[in-house]
Amino acid sequence: MRTPLIAGNWKMHKTIAEAVALTDALAVGLADLPANRQVVICPTFTALASVAARPRAGIAIGAQNVYPEVQGAYTGEIAPGMLKEIGCTYVIIGHSERRQLFGETDAMVARKAAAVLDAGMTPIVCVGETRAERESGQAENIVLGQVKAGLSALSNRLSEIVIAYEPVWAIGTGLTATSADAQAMHAAIRGELRSVGGNQADTVRIQYGGSVKPDNVDELMAQPDIDGALVGGAALVAESFIRIAKFVK
Ligand code: PEP
Repeated sequence: MRTPLIAGNWKMHKTIAEAVALTDALAVGLADLPANRQVVICPTFTALASVAARPRAGIAIGAQNVYPEVQGAYTGEIAPGMLKEIGCTYVIIGHSERRQLFGETDAMVARKAAAVLDAGMTPIVCVGETRAERESGQAENIVLGQVKAGLSALSNRLSEIVIAYEPVWAIGTGLTATSADAQAMHAAIRGELRSVGGNQADTVRIQYGGSVKPDNVDELMAQPDIDGALVGGAALVAESFIRIAKFVK
């Protein structure tokens, strides 16, 4: 019912030439991807057009950020329509690095998600708790609060949204939530989605992110409420990302 989505977040890595080379390697390696899953790669803004111009064997393109206005005096920002024009179909929103380093709030996440939907693209809305929040027993409260604050205003459009649960302490650290802990949080998120948007909750894809690698992806993807992965470091190496996208369920 929910087609798994494997997303690669390239963050602030890769020159344009390197991004094109990685795209070409992925297009070859994923040419025989099983039909029951989807893949999206999210390069830097500067590499988007070059990556979009390559043959990609069905691999979609996404952006890592957006500003929630159609156009205007917003120096340094990029509008949803500009991303759509370049070929993006997904936009990552509310990544923990943006929340922590750039002060992105739940209110801004909500505005961005709405703007991305209005432009005809799919927002990948990131949520997740810090290590301190997990250790103090607050993980579920924090994450469900982010889901509610980010998505309540979109209660009739939930099925068009992807959520990425990314425990902050697992991002880029090599630490991964156990598959049981991840599943428990995903089930809780789906419960919160049900109270926001009823049965649409069953159609929302919830990705796991946080040090997903070739050797842990199969176990994570075996969980009933894990519908894909948002991959950082391992998405920068063709061989790793190809193996992750070819997870065995
Ligand atoms: C991320 O940046 O979203 C991420 C999950 O990174 P990593 O896979 O490197 O932990």
